[in-house]
Amino acid sequence: MRCLVGSEWGAERKALKSIYTGLIRSVFDYGSIVFGSASETLLKKLDSIQYQALRLCTGAVRTTPTSAFLIEMGEMPLNLRRLQLKSNYWCNLKGHDGNHPCQDILKSSWEKEKKKLNSFGWEIENVIKDFGLSDINISQTVPLSTVYPSLFHNNVVDLTLLEKRKGENISDPYLVQSYLDSKYYGYVQVFTDASKNSNSSNGVIVCSDSSSSLYSLKNNHAISRPDLLLEIQLITYRIQAMGLLVIFTWIPSHIGIRGNELADKYAKQASKYSDIDILVPFSREEIKSIIKQKVKERWQRQWEEDRTGRWLYSIQRKVGAMRRTGQNRKEETVISRLRFGHTRLNSNLFKIGKHRTGSCDFCGQEETVKHVLLFCTKYSDYLLK
Ligand SMILES: [Zn+2]
Repeated sequence: MRCLVGSEWGAERKALKSIYTGLIRSVFDYGSIVFGSASETLLKKLDSIQYQALRLCTGAVRTTPTSAFLIEMGEMPLNLRRLQLKSNYWCNLKGHDGNHPCQDILKSSWEKEKKKLNSFGWEIENVIKDFGLSDINISQTVPLSTVYPSLFHNNVVDLTLLEKRKGENISDPYLVQSYLDSKYYGYVQVFTDASKNSNSSNGVIVCSDSSSSLYSLKNNHAISRPDLLLEIQLITYRIQAMGLLVIFTWIPSHIGIRGNELADKYAKQASKYSDIDILVPFSREEIKSIIKQKVKERWQRQWEEDRTGRWLYSIQRKVGAMRRTGQNRKEETVISRLRFGHTRLNSNLFKIGKHRTGSCDFCGQEETVKHVLLFCTKYSDYLLK
């Protein structure tokens, strides 16, 4: 990375960050669940590599506190990252059935009572308790079908209205309703969560306003909820075995289609309901996003309680996001250094013994970022221009 940058020239920080995440952080991640129990001193060696790499990205001077350029680059400290990866792994394990060989490390044992270790099996329980996830229900990591998958019919998904949306105006509920009524004459219209009864039964048309769910059904692929997709397929398989057709279609929401409005109303009512009728387990992806959020909260707390990097804290309170950049490397470096409050101005030079007094050569006050930007009379001419 050092070959790619100087303080005033070089690759832009996004590219440098990609090099860091791709070539360095990935190595730190691999096996971190195992080596995470190593001693603090050993783990600190990794930290210092992370600091070096990220400092190069920002072009910060050496005296800059480490917490500051982690925030500037939107990279969490490695110990928090290990915590996140560890918790994700727990989530994967929980989703497997009891036969999975690694499940054993989660079981309680007499050793766990007697010894205090900081390896995965010992620690993870407390971590999860802290996150409030102990009693959570996780869906299977690999959902298995009771029906041979090749027997499934391809889901019929009608996206006519969705594709029309781009060209024509389909905000008229009457038009949508008559499209459904004529094309799917004699079908039971089911609006997601609510249904309208009809006497005949050529089949069922399921009307949903969620285009992402429909695309999942159409492509037979769901990243966040593979378990629910499988359940839907099993249900449609059983219905179609009885000789009824099941078709899915997209309809626009909030334009006054009665079924859709009802579905919406009931869904909102249900969300306020205190008792749970049907227990739907969380998916792995959902739990992982909760974990991510919890880890971020810890990082945020660390940043608030940190005693270093307070100048940057007064500018940026929230952790997690990288500042929008777009200037050339030299300019970005200057902006970052001003944000850090660590520059080559006299007050900083004084601290490392490179200036006699640390005061401004022009007006004699301490030459800090604040002084130069707001008070120094030397630059007032520039302001007028
Ligand atoms: Zn001055």
